[in-house]
Amino acid sequence: MRQIDHHIVGGAGGASRFGDILDPNNGGIQARVALGDRAVLDRAVAAAKAAQPGWATTNPQRRARVMFEFKRLVEANLNELAELLASEHGKVVADARGDLQRGLDVVEFACGAPHVLKGDYTIGAGPGIDVYSMRQPIGIGVGITPFNFPAMIPLWMGAIATVVGNAFILKPSERDPSVPVRLSELFLEAGMPEGIFQVVHGDKEMVDAILDHPDIGAVSFVGSSDIAHYVYNRGVANGKRVQAMGGAKNHGIVMPDADLDQVVNDLTGAAFGSAGERCMALPVVVPVGEDTANRLRAKLIPAIEALRVGVSTDAEAHYGPVVTQAHKDKVEGWIQKCADEGAELVIDGRGFTLQGHEKGFFVGPTLFDHVTADMESYKEEIFGPVLQIVRAPDFETALELPSKHQYGNGVAIFTRNGHAAREFAARVNVGMVGINVPIPVPVAYHTFGGWKRSAFGDTNQHGMEGVKFWTKVKTVTARWPDGSPDGGNAFVIPTMG
Ligand code: NAD
Repeated sequence: MRQIDHHIVGGAGGASRFGDILDPNNGGIQARVALGDRAVLDRAVAAAKAAQPGWATTNPQRRARVMFEFKRLVEANLNELAELLASEHGKVVADARGDLQRGLDVVEFACGAPHVLKGDYTIGAGPGIDVYSMRQPIGIGVGITPFNFPAMIPLWMGAIATVVGNAFILKPSERDPSVPVRLSELFLEAGMPEGIFQVVHGDKEMVDAILDHPDIGAVSFVGSSDIAHYVYNRGVANGKRVQAMGGAKNHGIVMPDADLDQVVNDLTGAAFGSAGERCMALPVVVPVGEDTANRLRAKLIPAIEALRVGVSTDAEAHYGPVVTQAHKDKVEGWIQKCADEGAELVIDGRGFTLQGHEKGFFVGPTLFDHVTADMESYKEEIFGPVLQIVRAPDFETALELPSKHQYGNGVAIFTRNGHAAREFAARVNVGMVGINVPIPVPVAYHTFGGWKRSAFGDTNQHGMEGVKFWTKVKTVTARWPDGSPDGGNAFVIPTMG
């Protein structure tokens, strides 16, 4: 059986524990992954420690050149990488290409490191005094990533962490670890020194070893909220800089004047694409007014019924299987729960099977109407191909729903009314807002991050926020007196006045 090993300096070494890598399209086990422990981490950290000072003093233009070359290599291998990614995750190959491309967008941003690392300078802040600041790397940083974007999220973190001069250790999801390993191989091929981008695999044991390791200065985590919260608390308690992105339940508000054909097109993609396994999916739609709700529902039903669920390699499929049998059971459990709570089950995706792939982890598209804010199935993240309609009588109620929800990752409003859109964007209590944009993932040179239980810590992913997360600012105040005594009183706090 194929085995995925740690990609660290000196070789993977033996492993005593393994995790199963499933085949979402067919069921069963397709490979196994070594699950590491503190001893494996210690080896990776030792290699990182040895390599990092030389990398940090390599000039930023040369570090950026590695990013340019890495980007070229990923592009040259895009199809192979997308197919590998899809085979472990279950998303369709075209979507897997998008996963890689969104990661490459951040690599492109990292290519501009020489520019973004320029510090501030004030000449003549006082007599003979200049002040300047510089951004220095943290040292050793770690990324702990979820299964649903096995290329994009490791690159959000790893490209910026390394280009600013850190050594980076990636602990990807143990469910789809092959692409992260391929990316680390391509970094080496692109000219990155050994020890600067390594991959260790594992579960809670490895994560705890990371959080407790004294030589690791920063941890960036993306995953579910309870674990994000745990990682944040334990990492911060150990003196690390931590950012920890969590789960989501994004709402799409549909105003009465919205173009409903466009909305239905956007919604089906955003709710069911990648089988709903996206933290920026739109699993809740909030039509404003009964008439909007009825018109939207009438258009949504045939559009959802027309969706094609297929294997990842089916070029015609809109989405593929969910990641594991356990996750399929969980999603179907939420469908039962939502029905039990009194919502109207309009389209039931349970019991869906695909001919020839009867053991695959497929869930058919599911639609609920008359979902209410007090239902558990509304409050919690389902992370599957399930769309819930929550009817709102007016704009204020629609604004309140995402604003009061425990998660605050993304939200969208569909309208032709600029004033309503502007008002909504300014007042909604959510981190990323789309105006007629169903999945408002910001471009790489802006920054990604939610609010409330969708993110713990103060700094977002990528863009300048990413540069800030992976660096420390040092400010130098330099005085070059002209030789004449200044007669100042050394016993009071110096001022420039
Ligand atoms: P997960 O929380 O199960 O796993 C994330 C990481 O944590 C993995 O590397 C995993 O090995 C590790 N982990 C798992 N259990 C652990 C434990 N008990 N202690 C310590 N570490 C543990 O998440 P997932 O199922 O892989 O990913 C889906 C979740 O990620 C969803 O909730 C989704 O919304 C969220 N997500 C959030 C964002 C965002 O930016 N906010 C982006 C993508 C995914």
